[in-house]
Order: sequence, then C-alpha cells, then structure tokens
Amino acid sequence: MTETTSILIKDTIILSEDIKKGSVLIVDDKIQEVNDKLTNSDADKIIDGSNKITMPGLINTHSHVAMTLLRGVGDDQDLQTWLNEYIWPKEAKLNENLVYAGSKLAMAEMIKTGTTTFNDMYFFMEETAKAVDESGMRALLGYGMIDLFDEEKRKSELKVTKDFISKCHNTCDGRVQVAVAPHAPYTCSEEILCESKKLADKNDLKLHIHVSETKQEVTDLKNDKNQTPFEYLNNIGLLDKNTIAAHGVWTTDDEMKILEEKEVSISHNPSSNMKLASGIAPVHDYLNNNINVSIGTDGVSSNNNLDMFSEMKLTPLLQKVKTLDSKVLPAKSTFNMATKNGAKALGINTGEIKEGKLADIILVNTNVPHMTPVRNALSNIIYSALGSDVDTVICNGNILLEDKELKTINEKEVIEDAKLAASQL
Ligand SMILES: [Zn+2]
Repeated sequence: MTETTSILIKDTIILSEDIKKGSVLIVDDKIQEVNDKLTNSDADKIIDGSNKITMPGLINTHSHVAMTLLRGVGDDQDLQTWLNEYIWPKEAKLNENLVYAGSKLAMAEMIKTGTTTFNDMYFFMEETAKAVDESGMRALLGYGMIDLFDEEKRKSELKVTKDFISKCHNTCDGRVQVAVAPHAPYTCSEEILCESKKLADKNDLKLHIHVSETKQEVTDLKNDKNQTPFEYLNNIGLLDKNTIAAHGVWTTDDEMKILEEKEVSISHNPSSNMKLASGIAPVHDYLNNNINVSIGTDGVSSNNNLDMFSEMKLTPLLQKVKTLDSKVLPAKSTFNMATKNGAKALGINTGEIKEGKLADIILVNTNVPHMTPVRNALSNIIYSALGSDVDTVICNGNILLEDKELKTINEKEVIEDAKLAASQL
C-alpha cells in the first residue's frame, strides 16, 4: 500500500455534481479541498491532472466477483438452464483458494477499469474480504445464502452469515462492510428470508437479494403465492431503506409504489439482463418514481467482464430503445447511477468529489482519439470512454493504479494464479 498522506491532483477537469476546471486535495482518506486556485502545495504527492477527467470512483452495486474464473461458461443460455446445467455444477467444486484467486483477478480488472467499490454476493467470502484488504478497494460483502426450502440447510447457511459478520464486518479501516445476502425468493424459503431480515436489523446491516430478474420467476411466484416478487417480500416485512434489490426487471406499477414507500434501492444490470434475455428493467420509471437506482455488472459469466464503463453506456441506450424516446435517461442521470446513487444504496460516504467525502477518485485519460475533443466531459465519460482509459485510481486516499499500472496487485502473478484456478473447475 502506498503510504502517502496527502495527494494533490492538479489542473484537471473535475466531473462530479457539475463540470469545472481545478484541483483536488486529498488528506489521508478524505477529500479536503476542491478548488480552482490550488496550484502549489506541499502535498506529499502531486498528480498532473491535465488531459484527464477526474471523477468519483465507480460503484458496482451487484457482483459475484470470484465468478471471473467462470468467464466463458454457459454463454447463450436462459437463466435457469445457465444456473442448473452450467454454473451450479462448477460452483460445487469451489473452495477457499479458488475464490481467493478469482477475487484477486476481479479486483485487478475492476481497478484497471475505474471501479473503487463493489457489492458482492458469493461463497467463501472471507477470501474475498482478504483480497479486498490486500487490493485496497472498498466493498460490501455478503455470503449468498441458498436453502432450497430445506430446514437443515437454512440453519447452516445462517450460521455461515453470522460467522462472517463477526469476523469481517467493518474491518480494513472500514473498507469492508458485511451485508446479509439471501440469494433470491425462488432459492430461499420464507423462513430464511425472515431470519435474514432479523439478522440485518439486529446488526444494522444492508440486505442484498436478487428480485424479479426473469418473467418465469414472477409467473412461478404468482402461481405459488398469488403475489408478485416485491409484493411477497413486502408482505413478509423484508423491504426497507437497507434493501438492495438486484435486477428488478419485471417490476409492476403497484410494486413501484411499494419500492418508493419503502425506499428500496435497485441495482440495474444491463449486460446481464441482455445476455440472459431477462428483459429491460424499467429504469426510467424507477427514476420518475424517486426510486434510488444504481448500476451493477452481475457475475462475469453473464456479462462477460466487470467494466462499469460499458454498463454506463448500455444503461441509457436500453432505456431509449425501451421507450422509443431519445430524451430519456440523459448522461447526468446515468453518471449519478454509477456514482452517488451507488454510494447511497451501499450507505457509504463516497460517490462525489466534494470536501469531506472519502477519497475514492479516478482519473480518465482524454488524450486518445476516441475521447477527442472534450466538448463535454460528461458526454465523453458516458458515451465515448472505455474502461481501459482509466489512468489513475485512488481509494480511501491510497493510490491503487498509476499510469495504468496496478500498485497493490501483482498483475502477472494474479493472472497466472487465476489460469491455474480456472483449470480446476
Ligand atoms: Zn447476480
């Protein structure tokens, strides 16, 4: 970890609430000053921000990062076939070492493409927490509980979550937080969902769950319980401002009212929803109903990478196609979804370049053909930029990437370890 206590990013284009030229001073883990006059300073480290756009680190609000090892598994299948025939048989072979290798690979990819925080649900989560500790990223981590309506399994799943909370919650200088993460209404019994909510309330934790991802899920629940997914979850008392619901593709108008009233956050996953042909989430309607929507990549097998820049581009394009209205979801709304809306969903003090915020900042190179000219930095970031344009990444006041080079991760070693790990699945 770089032991810098103050960093000055000089002469840059700052893209946050608005767009302005200036400099940003970071002291320890926080942004201390944002100013157009900050030119000289006795900062320990000075970063030349010219020909760069300086913006908040991206926040990926739905991932299964160790699934990087399953890249390329089960392409071109629907969700149920993909899970049952391709993913779950391989996941049954996972162990601590494999999850650690996959998590490290994901973090190399995420940092190199400008993500500073992610919200993950998977297995062997202590290994992912260890990788977060070493990489310097920020994460909300939850053990993905699946009881498949079995009582014994329910008890053991809840125990894994309880142990994970006591070992890892609020560790690594606050960079690692733990969430309670029952997988989905179709893999979890009502009992485990209710126990999950109690556990989240008791420990003041977020609750992360997949909801209303496919039409089939909605049909099955209607046949079984005569309720739609969000109606069901609301009726069993699961929904509140601490709920992060991934997908929400088939949400009805009545469910929108519930989500607004309960202040639920939705994580929109455009690539995954397109690839698994799940549908187009009503993001435009969510925003019109004052529902907090952020952006996630989902796991790599349904994406097939962790580049938030491609999710940022797909988000408005999909809404324009869905509504046949080119005016919906302007660049600013998308930018907010990938930054401050994500911070709100996860309950972290990041997502903006503003005094007092945690110093999670990225610099994006504009001195390349596809980013020239910079008429509007916001437009270039949403519609032109690629993840590989990210030049510098700072998280919690520490430099994780500089001149496109990883500072906390040995990239070559991580790639070799991941190749070996993937060959064991
Ligand atoms: Zn998912």
